[in-house]
Amino acid sequence: MKAIFLDNDGTLVDDMPFAAEPRRIRLVNGAGPALRLLSGLDYRLFVVANQSGIAHGCFGEDAMTPMSDRLRDLLFREQLTLDGFYYCPHHPLGTVSNYAHACTCRKPSPGMLLRAAHEHDIDLRASWMIGDILHDVEAGNRAGCRTLLIDNGNETEWRLGPRRLPTRIAPDLYHAAMLIAGHGDPC
Ligand SMILES: [Mg+2]
Ligand SMILES: [Zn+2]
Repeated sequence: MKAIFLDNDGTLVDDMPFAAEPRRIRLVNGAGPALRLLSGLDYRLFVVANQSGIAHGCFGEDAMTPMSDRLRDLLFREQLTLDGFYYCPHHPLGTVSNYAHACTCRKPSPGMLLRAAHEHDIDLRASWMIGDILHDVEAGNRAGCRTLLIDNGNETEWRLGPRRLPTRIAPDLYHAAMLIAGHGDPC
């Protein structure tokens, strides 16, 4: 099976820093058609989200279920199924001691993608990571996926490096899906 790994904030949903109010979550423009296109090509859909707000004490881990339920609900209304929601609650500079440490899941580390692949039998080389910053790209590349950067202004540092080059770049999620759909299968 192949997958699309989606960053959450700024990629799948409109950016709301540290906001954990599920009712305010909105899918980005064009998310429905984009993900229906990819789903129709047999890609499974996963969210892989850094949620350092937990480590910073902005909200608790108990906010994650309502958030993923809301996402599943919004996607269901678009005739879409979310196959998994993975999040990293950690941050090395956090203030909540349980979560204030380095980890292997926080992007740019690939841990969430590797775990999803293991749990859902995903072929990473046939899969894509879509995100709006280069940390997403690096996580996808390190996991062995192809990567697509949505260049929507959220990446501001442009710290480049050999693992931080995306396979493709698109202005938004809809164009990202069109590029992936036209990219063909790996040989
Ligand atoms: Mg993002
Ligand atoms: Zn983590």
